Amino acid sequence: MGSPKIVLTASASEASEWRHSIWQQMLSATIPAKHAHKWRNPELLINESWPDGRAKYVPNGLRMVETLLLREYSEDDVVVCYLENLEKFIGPETKVVAIHAHNPLGISYATDVYSKIAGKNLIPVNAAEFLKIVKHPVIEKYRPKIVIGGPGAWQLERAERLDEFNVDYLIDGEIEKVFSDLFKRMMEGDPTLERIIKLPKSTQPTVEEIPVVKHRSTFGVVEITRGCGRGCQFCGPATKVGRSFPLEHIMESARVNAREGATEIMLATEDMFLYEQEANFETNIPALETMLRNVKKVPGIETLQMSHITMAPVVKDPSIIERLTPLIVPFSHVQHKESTDADHRMTDPIIGLETGSSRLFDIFMKGKAYPYKAHQWRDVVLKGMETLNKHNWFPFCTFIIGLPGETDADTKESLNLLYDLRDAKGTFVPTFFVPLEDTRMQKKESAKLIEMTDLQWEFFYTCWKYNLHFWKGSASTMKFSLGVPLYYYMLGRKLFGNGIKYPLYRFAGVPDRFMRKHLYLDFTGFKRSKDTMHAPVDEILPGFKSVREKGLNMIDATQLHHIGSSVSAAAGEAIQAAS
Ligand code: SF4
Repeated sequence: MGSPKIVLTASASEASEWRHSIWQQMLSATIPAKHAHKWRNPELLINESWPDGRAKYVPNGLRMVETLLLREYSEDDVVVCYLENLEKFIGPETKVVAIHAHNPLGISYATDVYSKIAGKNLIPVNAAEFLKIVKHPVIEKYRPKIVIGGPGAWQLERAERLDEFNVDYLIDGEIEKVFSDLFKRMMEGDPTLERIIKLPKSTQPTVEEIPVVKHRSTFGVVEITRGCGRGCQFCGPATKVGRSFPLEHIMESARVNAREGATEIMLATEDMFLYEQEANFETNIPALETMLRNVKKVPGIETLQMSHITMAPVVKDPSIIERLTPLIVPFSHVQHKESTDADHRMTDPIIGLETGSSRLFDIFMKGKAYPYKAHQWRDVVLKGMETLNKHNWFPFCTFIIGLPGETDADTKESLNLLYDLRDAKGTFVPTFFVPLEDTRMQKKESAKLIEMTDLQWEFFYTCWKYNLHFWKGSASTMKFSLGVPLYYYMLGRKLFGNGIKYPLYRFAGVPDRFMRKHLYLDFTGFKRSKDTMHAPVDEILPGFKSVREKGLNMIDATQLHHIGSSVSAAAGEAIQAAS
């Protein structure tokens, strides 16, 4: 038998579902490849293949491409495999190698920052693996067309490195609606086809045009919604049409994953509370309950994980969390000793908290707090966290440092919020502003490490101090406490200046009372409580009544619900135009 016409691949770290850990995936996108052996378990990059060499699980986006190809090609023509099996499959008949790129050059949110903390000119594991694929000798030998897609594909265009990696086509956007025609033209080498294919909003598919994937995805990813509609200016999904997948689509996707060995389903969404949402972003609790109950019943599925939620619905209606907890927390694979669940299980959805500055919030993301206003964001975060923690939801919270125009006053507001969260249970991950493609901020400047202020460094390391306490307990080891100052003198100050010194010392466990003059926050005398945090806020009354109030630029369920999906493409463009 000849070689397959089309080979699809992704880096090992993007495909890995080692211990069901999203942490692992984030670390691979951040820690420098050069030092990775010191940090990670080598098993992390060993993925399972079927006896014929095909990959057992790869990112959901790559599975979608495979599924679309299988409408027109046979399984013999389309192979999905890992790096180590490229040699086995790519041959003279192979016309196309398509690569899923999550973070090919290591320049998405935060990633270059974390890798550069260990020294200049370092690239994260993800990026190093991408290079191994595109520079693979078998690709150089047979020269199939190289097609790149996935959430980080834009990095290659921005860095102008398409020639260096012999990339024939780069696809940016949702492909389901136009895939067939596009791929045909690629195979034929249509000279009129642009090298960089940016799919406009008008080609976004309706949910009916998105098929159920044919094979298993990493983490058993099952999409429950696409798009958001809250309109944050830095975010890609904000400008995408938001749609809920029909329950049967979700169930069949879960069954496909389970049949091929997945024991966990990750419900992928920009915000779980958007699932079958009502007008004005009202959460549809019965629909969520039905969906969760059904997915759990799929034979072979033992645990559930969800990707993202937003905080405002938790505050608007805390009964959402009360009602969903019995369907989620006992079925999570994550445990923490501070969980009050009988088995210490907890769930850790990702929440973008972004900033404590009401000024920046109002400029860049006011829809995120809806129905509350920007000046209420601090209270919303604290009240929401109290409710979540009470029910053993210990979220993975992300912040953005260095939003355009951020002043010291803004950073102090973020530090104040962080201080108010000192008893919260969760993980706090500071990221650095990167203008993502296809967002309203794509032309803005990235945050630059070298320009980080002392306050921003304090925010950065205080987050990691919290994480250390929450996950490891308060006792820093001697090696760690001595190693951090050593890092400062040997490398840190050369790379980033003196501004990191005291924040780094706090991280290392030096008592704040010795550094009061140098730091904004003072934790002297503070001992983290293991009880549920108490939010120091009164009742919060919604500041908005409708998403159609002036200046909000939001799209709600009246335009996004899947029943009206044919009109939702137009709605998606409306959000762009409105901004
Ligand atoms: S809430 Fe904002 S940041 Fe989150 S997905 Fe929606 S638009 Fe994006």
